[in-house]
Amino acid sequence: MNYENMLTEVYASLPEKKSSGERFEVPIADAFIEGNKTLIRNFDAICQTLRRKPADLAKFLFRELAVPGVMEGGRLLLQTKVSDRLINEKIGLYAQTHVICHECHKPDTSIESHGRSAKILICEACGARSPVLV
Ligand SMILES: [Zn+2]
Repeated sequence: MNYENMLTEVYASLPEKKSSGERFEVPIADAFIEGNKTLIRNFDAICQTLRRKPADLAKFLFRELAVPGVMEGGRLLLQTKVSDRLINEKIGLYAQTHVICHECHKPDTSIESHGRSAKILICEACGARSPVLV
């Protein structure tokens, strides 16, 4: 069985999506402060919901929070104390700019890179293409 057939099988076995009016919910980070560090315990799950590579979201958070960090298994470790409110604000910003279609507001999108820094958000639902600005 090739990869595409496998995906079709996986999608076929998922419960059917509710009506298209359903609002996408940005996942909430389960952040835990440990000493001078902050651990996002459900980082992998967040990336899966957003359908983005953990490395991409990690890079975005390091830059937006101006904090260095490392990925550890399915978790993200930030090298300083960051409130969960701020982390969730940044994940919300990422979803707005890198996941949710600017035209139809659905999360069924992918990102195409052009050159070193230009990125285009492509919507699988309505076909809109918009530049990723952040
Ligand atoms: Zn769209």
